[in-house]
Amino acid sequence: MYPHAFSYHRADSLEEATTLLRDLGEEARLLAGGQSLIPLMKIRLARPTALIDINFIPGLSGIQVDGNELRFGALTRHADIENSERVAAVPILHDCAAGIADVQVRNQGTIGGSLAEADPSGDWGAALLTQQTSVRCFGPRGERAIPLEDFVKDAYTTVLGHDELIREVIVKKPPKNSGGAYLAFKRSAPVYATVSAAVQLTLDGKDSCKDARIALGCVGLTVLRATQAEAELRGNKLDAETIQRAAEAAQDAAEPQSDMRGSAEYKRRLVSALVRRAVGIAARRARGECVEAAHEYVGR
Ligand SMILES: Cc1cc2nc3c(=O)[nH]c(=O)nc-3n(C[C@H](O)[C@H](O)[C@H](O)COP(=O)(O)OP(=O)(O)OC[C@H]3O[C@@H](n4cnc5c(N)ncnc54)[C@H](O)[C@@H]3O)c2cc1C
Repeated sequence: MYPHAFSYHRADSLEEATTLLRDLGEEARLLAGGQSLIPLMKIRLARPTALIDINFIPGLSGIQVDGNELRFGALTRHADIENSERVAAVPILHDCAAGIADVQVRNQGTIGGSLAEADPSGDWGAALLTQQTSVRCFGPRGERAIPLEDFVKDAYTTVLGHDELIREVIVKKPPKNSGGAYLAFKRSAPVYATVSAAVQLTLDGKDSCKDARIALGCVGLTVLRATQAEAELRGNKLDAETIQRAAEAAQDAAEPQSDMRGSAEYKRRLVSALVRRAVGIAARRARGECVEAAHEYVGR
């Protein structure tokens, strides 16, 4: 199907983009990588009357290291993050980027577009929620930095005003003795995950967990923090029993729906299995081991 008719506008600065958003009205949309918006337009689930292309705005793409922060321009492509040496120091971010869809999507799709889309099945939402992440936004009233946990309001809904855009995504590098893992279970590469789990652990000594953050994707209207599962790990020795208790608590926190990707019960069990596995990888990374990890596919 062809998209509904729309006008195309190219913004050459952040100011021009916000002015265009204001002048073209509520039905105007920003165009970044187009990997969520264009498919929705083709099936006419999205019918914007105007597209404002932000790809020509200078300085909106790229990865900077600033002290203990990684700063991603909103237009930074998933593939740039996958292939970045700067990001390799935070393997959970590399693994998340490397498993998004296929090469074509990763070459076009952007980190800013993914967070703005706020798809509960999107990979970035879960992985970044386990990090100290803030979203730097630009609008006619100036700039504001919003912690990621406050950025998403509901499924496909953020706190962004209509004339506001994401300028940068800022991630604090994890502290010493910390490691993370992101595992998404997928039926094939170019589809969204059935369930995903992200874990970030900080160890106190070799085996004891000082701090934990766990986020679950695809099992709620938004990405969920599994806070009870985190509490099961925090302050405890990371033995099999503790990890099992955390996995069960994560399973209880999930609110999956049955759909073409699987039944609610199947997804709950996946949550438990993925959390157990991700905790194991995160703990080994926190101890300084180099552990390869990737998204998991049916039948592999
Ligand atoms: C076949 C296929 C498979 C996919 N599989 C996955 C997957 O497994 N995991 C996954 O995470 N994603 C997946 N995606 C989505 C992909 O990651 C997209 O790149 C991402 O969701 C949106 O980024 P984009 O840059 O393409 O945004 P666009 O499609 O250009 O925009 C998406 C929305 O965000 C808004 N927007 C874009 N940039 C900004 C900004 N800077 N500020 C404010 N609003 C903005 C747009 O107006 C639009 O409403 C898939 C896409 C396809 C086509």
